[in-house]
Amino acid sequence: MLSTKINDMINTQINWEFWSGYLYLAMANHFESVGRKGLANWFRIQYREEFDHALIFINYVHARGGKVTLAPIAEVPQTWDSPLQAFAHTLEHEQAVTRRVHELYALAEAEHDIATRQMLNWFVAEQVEEEESAQQIIDNLTLVGEDGTGIFQIDTELGQRTYSVPAPLAGKA
Ligand code: MG
Repeated sequence: MLSTKINDMINTQINWEFWSGYLYLAMANHFESVGRKGLANWFRIQYREEFDHALIFINYVHARGGKVTLAPIAEVPQTWDSPLQAFAHTLEHEQAVTRRVHELYALAEAEHDIATRQMLNWFVAEQVEEEESAQQIIDNLTLVGEDGTGIFQIDTELGQRTYSVPAPLAGKA
């Protein structure tokens, strides 16, 4: 059985994951509307992954006999000035998510909730990847600057990203 404190914090995290998905879907829509199909593809996959993250937490709450509470999803921005601005926003947002995951981990540690710590290990590693990939794209965008050919190449590369079901949801979703 989950403690009320951990259950509540996971419910907050579930809302954060859905909000993240909403944010990235808005970015996908924005880039679709300005003809950057590769960026739109990247953000659409990112949106699916965030909804997957929410489902992983939801499954975990059920497995531990807790209660899932779905709160309203707050509004997200709808436009960004440039690909670089969107990815800077992405990195900043992922850093905030990382802090939340670490706070949840610290609570699980304080309460000697070993199972929650174990479940969170996947998210700790996932956040390292999220920050690394956003930073990598920022570096590439910074390198090419306003160069149209460079932007075109990055857009093409991001268009090749494909979706795969995260390990904790394999055979479950
Ligand atoms: Mg996430």
